[in-house]
Amino acid sequence: MQTATRQNRQIRLAARPQGMTDASTWNLTQETAPVAGPGQVLVQVLYLSLDPAMRGWINEGESYMPPVAVGEVMRALAVGRVLQSQHADFAEGDYVSGLLGAQEYALSDGKGLFKVDPRLAPLPRYLGAFGMPGLTAYFGLNVVGELKDGETVLVSGAAGAVGAIVGQLAKARGCRVIGIAGGADKCAYLTQELGFDAAIDYKSQHVAQELARLCPQGVDVFFDNVGGDILDAALTRLAVGARIVICGAISQYNNQQPVRGPANYLSLLVKRATMKGMVVGDYYPRAMEGLQALAGLAQQGKLKAREHIVQGLEQFPQAFNMLFTGENQGKLVLQLSE
Ligand code: NAP
Repeated sequence: MQTATRQNRQIRLAARPQGMTDASTWNLTQETAPVAGPGQVLVQVLYLSLDPAMRGWINEGESYMPPVAVGEVMRALAVGRVLQSQHADFAEGDYVSGLLGAQEYALSDGKGLFKVDPRLAPLPRYLGAFGMPGLTAYFGLNVVGELKDGETVLVSGAAGAVGAIVGQLAKARGCRVIGIAGGADKCAYLTQELGFDAAIDYKSQHVAQELARLCPQGVDVFFDNVGGDILDAALTRLAVGARIVICGAISQYNNQQPVRGPANYLSLLVKRATMKGMVVGDYYPRAMEGLQALAGLAQQGKLKAREHIVQGLEQFPQAFNMLFTGENQGKLVLQLSE
């Protein structure tokens, strides 16, 4: 009886945005929650992940995933609890993570759904350090960036979900780590809490000048989350044989003009450096390796994480924009239920 009347609130894409999203981008809708059929599970979404990539998913056109269609429930990673199961691998009460969408209840056929254990870590952490951002940091740094012990590592977006893990992974390898972030508080978090060797506040400091001062021998690995001017500044400070990991370019995601390419790219020639893009999904078959490494470091006290939790599905539109104003302090998560 209760099942038949359960209501499912959802965030749907109302219109493709020009620039930053606003209230007109999204619709909060409601419909009767579905019921699990054979081979399916019904999941109650508890925590919804807000990720910069979601801004790209609502643009028209070709990407590494098809765009979310206007009218569709917004694609989103989430953690939830299995309410009903007709699937052999999942039982009622299991906690799971996957692409469940921006909604309170989601049906799944089990593909891409992973069990998570709330006794090992708080549930939101499976959307951050022990989830997609953590894996991005781990594989981006080690595989794409080919990190070697003791190198000099620069990371932009350093106080965010991915960047904070990148810096700590590099510190655990004996590297010298410099982070770039917006504001004194975030910079203090990097050096005082996370053990970065130095931090540059791109909002109040001249990034290229600071890099020249802090990295006179150049940077071996630049893990870039931001693109634009910060990428250009980093290109002026490469060591010979440097690797640049193009993880993201958040400074460009709301551009109304075409994305601007790096002006200083000829440093790649001069320094015999490489610049390589990555998509974390390519490494999901190896996820266990990354998760074990991340959990191992956390156990040794070498990996700290923080989540920025906003309450309520109806806060989705405002909360999403925090990623682009820099208001989030750590992995941004929307809590939908206890
Ligand atoms: P996040 O860093 O937790 O949050 C976004 C942060 O970006 C903001 O807090 C803000 O920090 C910074 N930012 C926003 N606009 C900026 C601008 N114009 N210039 C400089 N910094 C700006 O987000 P995240 O989840 O860790 O993602 C970071 C990057 O990784 C994004 O580019 C994302 O697309 C990318 N990513 C890529 C993959 C992949 O597979 N390639 C996977 C996950 C994430 P400040 O206050 O410091 O400005």
